[in-house]
Amino acid sequence: MRTPIIAGNWKMFKTMAEARAFAQEAKASNNTSGVQKVICAPFTALTALKEELAGTDIAIGAQNMHFEEQGAYTGEISASMLKEIGVEYVILGHSERRQYFNETDETVNKKVVAALAAGLVPIVCVGESLEQREAGETANVVRTQTEGAFAGVDAAQVADTVIAYEPIWAIGTGKSSTAEDANETIAIIRSVIGERFGQATAEKVRIQYGGSVKPENIASYMAQPDIDGALVGGASLVANSYLQLVAGA
Ligand code: PGA
Repeated sequence: MRTPIIAGNWKMFKTMAEARAFAQEAKASNNTSGVQKVICAPFTALTALKEELAGTDIAIGAQNMHFEEQGAYTGEISASMLKEIGVEYVILGHSERRQYFNETDETVNKKVVAALAAGLVPIVCVGESLEQREAGETANVVRTQTEGAFAGVDAAQVADTVIAYEPIWAIGTGKSSTAEDANETIAIIRSVIGERFGQATAEKVRIQYGGSVKPENIASYMAQPDIDGALVGGASLVANSYLQLVAGA
């Protein structure tokens, strides 16, 4: 009953011209229905992508935003600026942002609140490092990150967000988590949502797996009861590969 969602996370890849070329290719063979499709592109490619994808069911997303509405924050972009150009989703708290740009559960929470207020759908990333996994801390880490990200948010709003469980050791490494392990942790995240926001919210919120997802392994994740799609980096950069992931969902 939860619609699967396949989100591409392009990271810092693709110029505007490259984004247009991707969109033209994707449009020509976009024939899977029943799956929500999102491409999260660099800020500079979003408008071009939106133009090229007009009239298709492929939505666009950003990869970050600031939590303030406006102000003296050199280099930053607000939720309403994204909304204005037709952005519908925004990745928040990606591990690369936590690692290289000092994002914390607290800033992620502020961003989640601001994104929801502007009518954007946050894709909130959580996940443990290899060290944390080996120390048996996975459940605690995802619990803390999930509770932190959604602190003070209404249950109804939480239900409409997307969570991406991305074990850091599986991102861009080719070492994907087994589908069973990913499902187990995702079930923990869902139960944390249930404790905090009620069972109905837990059943509605979509939780993706991310980390070295490819056309060859997407089916194994989708076969798991708690996995509602994927957040995909490398394998989302080629239109044909992205569409194979969608078909596999
Ligand atoms: P990957 O990245 O698919 O290249 O492992 C996933 C992500 O960072 O969202």
